[in-house]
Amino acid sequence: MSVCPYCNYEYVEGIAICPDCSSPLVDENDLQKFEELSEADWVLVYTSGDELEIGMLKGILESAGLKVNVLSQKDHILPVPGDLSVVKLLVRKNDVGSALNYIQDVRNRESESSDE
Ligand SMILES: [Zn+2]
Repeated sequence: MSVCPYCNYEYVEGIAICPDCSSPLVDENDLQKFEELSEADWVLVYTSGDELEIGMLKGILESAGLKVNVLSQKDHILPVPGDLSVVKLLVRKNDVGSALNYIQDVRNRESESSDE
């Protein structure tokens, strides 16, 4: 089932653009993600072309009790000019400080182990 994220109308399979507002329809399952993203103050704390790295950071932040959202540009048909980072890591505004600390920790550990 496809849903317009702006009108909240549901459409049958096969329709890609909302006839009402011309917005691209999203999958019903993606709508929840979309709503979470727009209702909270999410802040971009990290970008990487390495999905595994983002996945690892996401796991660390989530196990620390932070809410994490990952946005990937591979879902988009056209790449955004000037932005080649494919995966974005977002946390809530209140969590930015601690998230950056955790990320810094991980990166320090990574650079230490790669020196060996
Ligand atoms: Zn619409």
